[in-house]
Amino acid sequence: MAAQPVSQLLRRFVRSCARGCSSVAPVTQPRPGEPSRPSTEELSTRLQFLREHAAPFSAFLTDSFGRQHSYLRISLTEKCNLRCQYCMPEEGVPLTPKADLLTTEEILTLTRLFVKEGVNKIRLTGGEPLIRPDVVNIVAQLHQLEGLRTIGVTTNGINLARLLPQLQKAGLNAINISLDTLVPAKFEFIVRRKGFHKVMEGIHKAIELGYNPVKVNCVVMRGLNEDELLDFVALTQGLPLDVRFIEYMPFDGNKWNFKKMVSYKEMLDAIQQQWPELEKVPEEESSTAKVFKIPGFQGQVSFITSMSEHFCGTCNRLRITADGNLKVCLFGNSEVSLRDHLRAGASEEKLLSIIGDAVGRKKREHAGMFNIAQMKNRPMVHIGG
Ligand code: SAM
Ligand code: SF4
Repeated sequence: MAAQPVSQLLRRFVRSCARGCSSVAPVTQPRPGEPSRPSTEELSTRLQFLREHAAPFSAFLTDSFGRQHSYLRISLTEKCNLRCQYCMPEEGVPLTPKADLLTTEEILTLTRLFVKEGVNKIRLTGGEPLIRPDVVNIVAQLHQLEGLRTIGVTTNGINLARLLPQLQKAGLNAINISLDTLVPAKFEFIVRRKGFHKVMEGIHKAIELGYNPVKVNCVVMRGLNEDELLDFVALTQGLPLDVRFIEYMPFDGNKWNFKKMVSYKEMLDAIQQQWPELEKVPEEESSTAKVFKIPGFQGQVSFITSMSEHFCGTCNRLRITADGNLKVCLFGNSEVSLRDHLRAGASEEKLLSIIGDAVGRKKREHAGMFNIAQMKNRPMVHIGG
């Protein structure tokens, strides 16, 4: 991946120093012959210098609650080769005319701008991103962007085994694969299409190519797959997987019902009954997952608790829909068309001020699980997971 800008390196250095310079950290004397270490005083002077000289995080990507949005998710297409029950109706969703979707060049212009402002992680999603013919090229172009540390994809896995070697070469370094059941017949029922073995092949290809962890997204729904929690956990024993159990969320057309949602607490309880030694793993500050591990297992399990315990307070994500709308919250209805401004010839400054205004309007948190179920929420395929 291309080098990071100095401002980002400094920020990270400041953070790591801040951890290392804790007043309770023991100060050890250097052994004879060892280079002498800087004193606490020297370190704090250096820290002060770095704080004063490090570029602050982009004001355009910082909201009124101080959240710094360094993670961008882009929907590459609204189309999908599956019809998951929790995501879209059997007949599919109305598709935006092709001319209204972002072109590759537009995607790259926008991402360049976001990365310049401090976005260091981009996830390609959809619809199914791996049906977009130029996906490998998009990854390769993103890989050129200075400052971008992570390029990830969230995929249903159907085309993954075939495309992953090229995607990896192009620079893809993080992967999430959706799989809600380990029973082939149930897979067909949930996604309304065939393809279980292709998804499994994709997961194994990702492991073979060294992705670690390979994240497996599993939307848990009562009466559908909550009886498979322990089977999914068992997969983490010998494989470097991060199985992520996702609470079922309401979107237009998915017939969400509170009773069908299995909460994080309920899932955790069921797993702990079988595995009382399950232990919590510390997560990154902006992580949306609560992470656990069974000692001795290669992989881990996580919970995405968007409904029962939202993580809005540390949300660092922005989304761009396939038709070019910037969406600052998965569950908010306010969207602004970056595509229209781009096509009208807006300058970089103009685009940044539009983005900054939208980010500035981001609410402290989503409206709560019962309210969002009553709201209009564009289907997930439009928003891009
Ligand atoms: N097609 C790709 C896939 O399935 O991985 C990417 C797009 S999909 C919309 C992104 C993620 O959203 C998937 O992991 C999917 O399981 C999850 N998802 C879709 N609808 C959901 C819902 N109603 N509740 C929770 N997660 C959902
Ligand atoms: Fe397609 Fe992903 Fe939605 Fe399933 S969850 S229908 S694979 S976009």
